[in-house]
Amino acid sequence: MLYRPFGKTGKMLSALGIGTTRFPAKTGAGIENAVRLVLEAIDNGVNYIDTSHSYLGGRAEEIVGAALRRTGKEVYVTVKSSYANDRTADECYSRICASLEHIGIKKAHFFIMWSVFSYSDFLKMTERGGLYDGALRAKKEGLVDHICASLHCTVNDMIKIIESGLLEGITITYSVLNQKMMDRVLRRAAELNVGIVTMNTLGGGLIPQNEKTFSFIKTEGDATVSRAALSFCYAHGEITTMLSGMANAGELHDNLGAVLRVMDRAEAEKRIELAEKGFEGITGYCTGCGYCMADGGCPAGIDTAAFMYSYNGIFFPGGVPDFRRTEERMLENIRICYRLKMSFNILPESGENPCLECGNCEKKCTQKIQIIKRVREMYRRFDESGYNKKHIIKKITEAFDNNHAKIGLWPASVYTSFIIDYVREILPGLGAELFIFDKNEKLRGTVNSGIKIQNPALLPRIKPDAIVITNYNYEADIYESIKHYENDGIKVVKLHDKNDLPWGGF
Ligand code: SF4
Ligand code: SF4
Repeated sequence: MLYRPFGKTGKMLSALGIGTTRFPAKTGAGIENAVRLVLEAIDNGVNYIDTSHSYLGGRAEEIVGAALRRTGKEVYVTVKSSYANDRTADECYSRICASLEHIGIKKAHFFIMWSVFSYSDFLKMTERGGLYDGALRAKKEGLVDHICASLHCTVNDMIKIIESGLLEGITITYSVLNQKMMDRVLRRAAELNVGIVTMNTLGGGLIPQNEKTFSFIKTEGDATVSRAALSFCYAHGEITTMLSGMANAGELHDNLGAVLRVMDRAEAEKRIELAEKGFEGITGYCTGCGYCMADGGCPAGIDTAAFMYSYNGIFFPGGVPDFRRTEERMLENIRICYRLKMSFNILPESGENPCLECGNCEKKCTQKIQIIKRVREMYRRFDESGYNKKHIIKKITEAFDNNHAKIGLWPASVYTSFIIDYVREILPGLGAELFIFDKNEKLRGTVNSGIKIQNPALLPRIKPDAIVITNYNYEADIYESIKHYENDGIKVVKLHDKNDLPWGGF
């Protein structure tokens, strides 16, 4: 295993880190297998485990805890709190304590402010009495060593967050797919000695799923394109650790094979050059270079680089969740919109295309992409899949009827918190009291966005005027299971149309 210093934390982290979201660990045997996999990774020198209270419905922390009790080696572990769940310092502090207890450790080495979607979110998290203050308290008490964040925002926002000086490390999406766009982030973090952990190093599975297309990143000795993709990332000296979720021993060994070799400078440079040239050779592929945005960018305010980079999803299947959708056009829409939201935090105002067709962007495009045509097509897709603010305002206003006194949301989830934020923003004068209902007993007494999660058994007593189903994966199943409340005079409303895409906050 290779190790690099992680920013100014004084810790040396292994090149490979364990991601804990992909273990097939639903049963006792599955959990034991996952524990053994973690132990095998540790025995091979991995010393960084990225986990969270919500991964695998809480089982990820159990798995990590069991593995730590069985190894004598020093391993660095994360605990996390997100703005979607925890709005105050107390909520964040309680979350940290609960995770430490669940894992069975006295201290986590890294606290991660989880899923920062924009600089304005970051400002809310770090304002007085907010989540960051809870982490600071935990640090003061020796419950965590270092405060870091995972970032899902624009490159400019990432740079502002890095420059805030409040973080010792960041976790970012980085792979051969977005390298050109993200290189500014790597450089700035390295200049300020902020450590970098990368996630989605295999493009969320997209790279191995398109082995032939990406074979150009392989150099002599790379048995698979996945190994080449990991080696490519590690060729960047700014990156300390690459997270890799692993479902079985085969995947673990594949990953280990990529990073157990020392790479000299010439090889590192050759890898980077190969990847850059290879992408430039894929006709119509947007490299994210940003040249189309030079000289003030688009007069209609379209972030053409972000749009075209997200449009790449049309060419490459995989890499993003399918949200249980099966129709091909729908899946393409998901691939485009998911990237637009997760990588750039962009949600169009409406389905109407504002492009003036001035052609400025096309003239500057290094890949000769027909940007005007693609922008037109993308707006058509935003319109048909409800991925725009106008549609969201309409749906929220309809579902959260201002004549109601009490409205329940079902179920509790990060996405529900995201919907509550929309409700508060779109309907600031909403008179109705909000409740969240969920069958999961483990969530009793916890909060989403400051709203206590209620036992559905209390529904007849609380008697909301309506229950709004916020889930988009299982909305039909949930509706079937709770529609009987309509017999008690409670309206049951599905927030999403069947053609809708989720609106973000994944
Ligand atoms: S052609 Fe359209 S997208 Fe391109 S710069 Fe002009 S207005 Fe913007
Ligand atoms: S110039 Fe072309 S390749 Fe570069 S970001 Fe813009 S659309 Fe993509």
